[in-house]
Amino acid sequence: MQNKEIKLPTIKQMLKRYNIKIHKSLGQNFLLDNNIANKIAKYSEPTKKTIIEIGPGPGSLTRSILQRNPQKLFAIDKDIQSKIMLTDLESVYPNKLRIITGDALDYPIWKLGSVPRQVISNLPYNVSTKMLTLWLKYINNFECLTLMFQKEVADRILAKQGSKHFGRLSILTNWLTKSSKLFDVPNSAFFPSPKVKSTVIQLRPLPKPLYNVSFDALEKITKMAFSQKRKMLKSSLNQLGGKKFLDELDISANLRPEELSIVDFCRIAEKAFES
Ligand code: SAM
Repeated sequence: MQNKEIKLPTIKQMLKRYNIKIHKSLGQNFLLDNNIANKIAKYSEPTKKTIIEIGPGPGSLTRSILQRNPQKLFAIDKDIQSKIMLTDLESVYPNKLRIITGDALDYPIWKLGSVPRQVISNLPYNVSTKMLTLWLKYINNFECLTLMFQKEVADRILAKQGSKHFGRLSILTNWLTKSSKLFDVPNSAFFPSPKVKSTVIQLRPLPKPLYNVSFDALEKITKMAFSQKRKMLKSSLNQLGGKKFLDELDISANLRPEELSIVDFCRIAEKAFES
């Protein structure tokens, strides 16, 4: 491990030194706790890999990743203030760190650098599910995603069939990846302290999806089924033919969407949109 960052000011000092304005609209809750940043970097094993960090902000996680000697670290933040705060760090790691100012949603991050490629991020919570859904479409370009979400969203991603949290996000994610919870993070680890709790999770692509169907078809069917979560499938899938359609697949029409398996969702999607 390298210890170059020791000469840098602390994150709190940087926020003060550069007179940083916190933008709530960009989901800015900055991690101040180095132990947590180090723990995230350690779990993701970034050494000699291409790492893409979304929303580095003042750079606590960025520092921890760089200490573990990645091949290259692309750090993308929408806020120009991040680039200003990371300039010192860039001069310590001139060949490793590349700072990009822009909206990560506009960036084909799955093409950056070379493989093995990982995403590591304390995500901006207001766009976290949008980002995840986009990256899942290109999941085979990544070795692993290590991501911090607000706890309630992490619970939805990790939820299993039958759970009240099971929904679109659980289905799309677990159809394509092995998902695991790493640890919870207390609100006190951030400035400003968020109202919601946080959880770090890790997603690793499965060798192949649980069932061969298109992303679009599965996205459409889960949207249809969960838009009326309390209703039985025969009602929510009425426009596809309701009970008759489900009988042909040997799926009980009286189930509610959270009771159905991921593979059965895929079978419905295939019949509805691909046959
Ligand atoms: N990684 C830093 C940390 O842990 O202290 C900051 C995390 S903060 C929760 C989220 C960061 O994402 C902010 O720095 C914010 O400016 C940035 N951000 C918000 N929306 C973004 C977007 N669409 N694309 C890239 N960065 C974004």
